[in-house]
Amino acid sequence: MKKLLRVTVVAWAMLPLPLLAQSKAPDYAPLTRPITVDQVPGKDIFYSIGSPGIPGKENEGNTSNAGYVVTPEGVVVFDVLGTPSLGWALLQDIRKRTDKDIRYIVASHYHADHIYGLQAFRDHSRAVIIAQDHSGDYSENKETADERAEVRLEQRREALAPWVDEHTRVIPPDITFADKITITLGGKRFSLISAGPAHSSSDIMMMVEPDGVLFAGDIVQNGRIPFMNSDDVSTTHWLQGLDEVLALNPKYIIPGHGNPSAAAKEAIAFTRDYILYVRKAMSEAVANWVDFDTAYNSTDWSKYKDYPAFESNNRGNAYRIFLELEASQFKK
Ligand SMILES: [Zn+2]
Repeated sequence: MKKLLRVTVVAWAMLPLPLLAQSKAPDYAPLTRPITVDQVPGKDIFYSIGSPGIPGKENEGNTSNAGYVVTPEGVVVFDVLGTPSLGWALLQDIRKRTDKDIRYIVASHYHADHIYGLQAFRDHSRAVIIAQDHSGDYSENKETADERAEVRLEQRREALAPWVDEHTRVIPPDITFADKITITLGGKRFSLISAGPAHSSSDIMMMVEPDGVLFAGDIVQNGRIPFMNSDDVSTTHWLQGLDEVLALNPKYIIPGHGNPSAAAKEAIAFTRDYILYVRKAMSEAVANWVDFDTAYNSTDWSKYKDYPAFESNNRGNAYRIFLELEASQFKK
């Protein structure tokens, strides 16, 4: 892995300077609601927090979190938001604060709300995009992909016009890895750790040391009902991934959705409790041969029904967990 990275660094240095010198803004539809970028107290680490809920015209697709770390040797970005326009806005925010090159972009996983901004970075920076091996499933649009790339793009062209349009394209990663890689840059250590398949097939987290700041991606969603309704969701792995987050003992955690927190335990508790709650309800049904509709309708959802994304995600999540538990019964 180390060798692979060294090769990448050389390749990066040899890339022609693209349109960096161009001062003219590209043809991405302007945002009417600009992004706001905050700073981790006392650190050269910045982040943007998306609106709760699902991507739509009212939030202009700005529903996920993204962030970046500035070092004397360049910038490392973690996720790039859900439209090229938002990616461009994030890039402009970086440019406002530093003229250092953007060296790496880490994609927490390949879902539209986190990666459509890659287009702006690909066209206007030399950043190397890093993701987990299974992110390749996304661009190849295999049947097992967590979300089908082409179908999703069609949906977003409608739901997020004009910010996603016919010029919007999915940018694949430049390098991928299986379990873990470490990047050392400008006196900081960036540990990229695979945490999937959990929320998607390609989840990764990024721990920034010595700052103790963790970019957790979508396995941590603070105060929002996560999306779990896909073939590749494994709540068993997801719960293990949350244990790994705790073991890293971060001082500050930036989740994939929802607010950042200086209390890692509390930040992960919401996602963990939700998964455990749905699993408990569905495992009782599976054990007693109760069909899904009956199980779903007789479960008390009052604890979660007022959280963002409940309407769009909860029933599908419960069904997916029902299937996962049913399948695991037969594996015994
Ligand atoms: Zn997401």
